[in-house]
Amino acid sequence: MSTHILEPGEIGNVEPFPTVVLPTDVTLFEGRARRFRQLASGHALGKLLEVMAHIADAQHKAFRAGSASPISDELLKQSREHGMPALSCQADRDASWQHDLDAVITALIACPETVLQDAARKLQGIDAEGREAIADAVLAGGIAGDDPDTHAVLAPLVGAALQVWWTRQAGSMNTTDVGLIGSSTVCPVCASRPIASVVEIGANQSNLRYLNCSLCSTQWHMVRVTCSACESTKGITYFSLNGVENEEPSRKLAFARAEACDACHSYLKIFTREKEPMMDVTADDLATLTLDMLVDEAGFLRSGPNLLFSPGVPETE
Ligand SMILES: [Zn+2]
Ligand SMILES: [Zn+2]
Repeated sequence: MSTHILEPGEIGNVEPFPTVVLPTDVTLFEGRARRFRQLASGHALGKLLEVMAHIADAQHKAFRAGSASPISDELLKQSREHGMPALSCQADRDASWQHDLDAVITALIACPETVLQDAARKLQGIDAEGREAIADAVLAGGIAGDDPDTHAVLAPLVGAALQVWWTRQAGSMNTTDVGLIGSSTVCPVCASRPIASVVEIGANQSNLRYLNCSLCSTQWHMVRVTCSACESTKGITYFSLNGVENEEPSRKLAFARAEACDACHSYLKIFTREKEPMMDVTADDLATLTLDMLVDEAGFLRSGPNLLFSPGVPETE
């Protein structure tokens, strides 16, 4: 008797499932703004989500205004052959990301939210070197300068511009340029941590779990019931606002859960798109902050950032 177990994608001779999905949707940020607005209605954090919708609008404008810079053949070759992320966030940044920051600033100065207008004007007065220092802190998860409150106000705008630049660059690559790297806990394109994972729907991704890059929006496959920070497959617990949900797969699972790991005491959210087909990983992550609080209280530390949200952002009125 055959003991061969069918892998996803083998069933019914469909296309093999993609291990990497590059961000080719040019309406990504526009869709994100729409989702923020949809979530804001009647939500306890409605005001925050509305403010975020304006940031996503600004990202869409910046994204459409620019075009991708060429990626060197050498970097693409190293990526293909050695799995070295071609757009590593740890390498020297191409200064052209600052054009996207200028576009984000211009859009936000014209938006109706005074809190964003003020932050944009403040950034406008900071020189290129100062902006690079904020970007370094955003990517490293730290604070630029000695004033955490100012950093908390400026960081989401800088994070937004970095996302625009990296998403456009990643979208200009070919999947065949992305080599397999040893670890799947960081993005194969830019080496950033994922914001969350999504159990997908659709012809060739159906029911498969993909990590979503917090910086360049690339998706990469990771088997389920595996810690996305340390790859442990033991001691994984799922929390939702309904309590602990360990049965998987189950039709009754909540849309948003936190996958928590006993080995490294970290967690990351996992969304089930089937339950919210219009979901957007960044918007839905912020709309489920209460789940973060619950899992924080249970003693787990979140393992990947949301670059639009710096904890400690002052309340908007
Ligand atoms: Zn990435
Ligand atoms: Zn772990």
